Amino acid sequence: SGSVKFEDVRFAYDPDRPILKGLTFDVPAGRTVAIVGPSGAGKSTLSRLLFRLYDVSSGRILIDGQDIRDVTQESLRAAIGMVPQDTVLFNDTIRYNIRYGRWDATDEEVEAAARTAQIDDFIRMSPKGYETEVGERGLKLSGGEKQRVAIARTVLKAPPILVLDEATSALDSHTEHEIQEALERVSRNRTSLVIAHRLSTIVGADEIIVLDQGGIAERGTHAGLLAAG
Ligand code: ADP
Ligand code: ADP
Repeated sequence: SGSVKFEDVRFAYDPDRPILKGLTFDVPAGRTVAIVGPSGAGKSTLSRLLFRLYDVSSGRILIDGQDIRDVTQESLRAAIGMVPQDTVLFNDTIRYNIRYGRWDATDEEVEAAARTAQIDDFIRMSPKGYETEVGERGLKLSGGEKQRVAIARTVLKAPPILVLDEATSALDSHTEHEIQEALERVSRNRTSLVIAHRLSTIVGADEIIVLDQGGIAERGTHAGLLAAG
C-alpha cells in the first residue's frame, strides 16, 4: 500500500497568484517519483499539500484511493514520513533524535536505522557515540549530518510513503553524494516522492517530473529526458 495520486491539483496562497496550475501524476505503491525544477516552481508547495499543511484550491490528492481530506490528520501523519531540506535537531542525544516518535524501538533497531542512513561511522567516532548531545548546545553537526539523522528517524518510523527534500545549499560534493546514497537506500521499494534539484542525483527514479511555473513541463525517465535534451 501507499500509492499517491494528484488529480488536476490547483493551488494558490493568494487567489490572484496561482502557484500550481493543474497537476496530474501518480506515484504507484513502491515506486519513486522525482520532482525537479527551478526555484519557485512549486516543488515545496506540492509536498506541503500532500502533508495537508494547506488544502488544494481544486482537484484532489489521493492516498490509496482515498481523498486526503477524508483522512484524519493523525493517520496522514502516520502514512507520510517527511525529511525536510533544513533539519533542526532536538537539544538531546543522537539516540533521542533517531528514536523520536518511535519510543518503543530497541537499541538494535535504532542502530540498524543509523546504518541505513549511513551515519553509524560518524556516530562511532563521536565522543559518546549514540549518547552524544547534539542541537544548539551539543556537538555541531554539518547540514548533511543533520539531514542523515533525520533520515534515520524516518527509516525507524517506516511510514508507507516518504517525502524527501534533497538538501542543496552549500553542501560539498562528498556530503551531497553521501546524502544521495542514503536517500536511494531509504527510498528503495517504498513509495517515495523526491524533491530534487538536479537530474544527476535521481538516476534511479521510476519517473521524473519537471515542474516549471506550477505546471508539468516534461516527464519521463532519466535516460529519456537526457536524450530529449
Ligand atoms: P520551490 O520549492 O519549487 O522552490 P515553492 O513551492 O517554495 O517552490 O514556491 C512556489 C511559489 O510559491 C514561489 O513563487 C513562492 O514565492 C511562493 N510561495 C511559497 N511559499 C509561500 C507562502 N507561504 N506564501 C505565499 N507564497 C509562497
Ligand atoms: P525553500 O526554498 O527552502 O523551500 P520556502 O519554500 O520556504 O523555502 O520558500 C520558497 C520561496 O517562497 C522563497 O522565495 C520564499 O521567499 C517564498 N516564500 C516563503 N514563504 C513566503 C510567504 N509567506 N510569502 C511569500 N513568499 C514566501
